[in-house]
Amino acid sequence: MKYTRPPDHFYRTLRERVDAYFEQTGQSRKGNAEAWVKVWLALIVAWVPYFWLLLGDLAAWQRVALAFVVGIGHVSLILQIGHDASHGALFESKRLNWIFARAFNMGGSDASAWHVAHDRIHHIFPNVAGTDGDIQRPAPFLRMSPSVPWRPWHRYQRFYAPLLYMQMTLFGVTLRDFKDLQLLPNKNAVEGMKADWPWHAVPVMLLSKVFYYGYALVVPTLVLQVPFWKVLLVWVCVHWMMGLVLAAGLLPAHMSSHAIILPKPHDGLIPIDHARHAFATVVDYGVDNRLFTAFYGGLNIHVLHHLLPGICHVHLPHLMPILRETAREYGITHTELGIGEAIGAHFAALDRNGDPDWRGTLPESLAAK
Ligand SMILES: [Zn+2]
Repeated sequence: MKYTRPPDHFYRTLRERVDAYFEQTGQSRKGNAEAWVKVWLALIVAWVPYFWLLLGDLAAWQRVALAFVVGIGHVSLILQIGHDASHGALFESKRLNWIFARAFNMGGSDASAWHVAHDRIHHIFPNVAGTDGDIQRPAPFLRMSPSVPWRPWHRYQRFYAPLLYMQMTLFGVTLRDFKDLQLLPNKNAVEGMKADWPWHAVPVMLLSKVFYYGYALVVPTLVLQVPFWKVLLVWVCVHWMMGLVLAAGLLPAHMSSHAIILPKPHDGLIPIDHARHAFATVVDYGVDNRLFTAFYGGLNIHVLHHLLPGICHVHLPHLMPILRETAREYGITHTELGIGEAIGAHFAALDRNGDPDWRGTLPESLAAK
């Protein structure tokens, strides 16, 4: 699979202007003081309530409430630390990025599997059937890709999709990494997932699962001396909340009625360039909402992230004027929505994709644009 057109003048101009921004402001593209504050804040939110709920003299409902705070802490660790570190965007040092990418492992999923599925597969050909695992994975329950055979229940997917989104992190901490690392069969595997895994990928994944299940389920059962089923029930409910929170920050960017999804091109050729493909397949939303942007680690400023994934998310809001202006100059359509609008467009996309006649946007019609 490849793009038939090389990066054109637009992409060069954008890069030059972004370079000039960093030169003029004297900043590094990686994390700054703001990023460090966020790193520590997320670590505190994830771990202080954990020890408090174990060791504090608290009522049961207070412990349950703290468990939800721990869940939010781990979502922020993944969004604000794990994602950037996995892209090599948090530090200049490769080693530090590797270590901080283990924020995924701390929250129960695996950073190596994420790195391949996200950085090396999703980022290269987003919204292309057969190569983007993000649109392939929910099959056969959800039809997000035209390569998923239509089933009658897809007509109603807008109604039951949130129930599946609630299972997102539960799937992440249980089956997903085993499937991605080929320890379990994976019917929904996409091209490229059979990566050359480093020798330590499987042992690190297995050890971190032991660590995760140890602190999340075993330690609370032993320390609090409560029945295991009660701990398990709270754990599942916290994951349902985490799944929904993550879905709101991850899905509307690509799975939107404003973003195209391509069938797999038979000749393996995508007839535009990488940058224009990003504009066609990505929607920005809630960009000017500082709290939303801060919590979601800038993932809502998604076009820039796809074009320049090596830049730490704290810089993205400051680079938006450059992106807007350059896209306008080159006549490129750039979709920016409000948060509510983007969520509405996500459900509209579920309706579109649940139609038996939907075939995705054909590459030829894309080239004609
Ligand atoms: Zn990314």
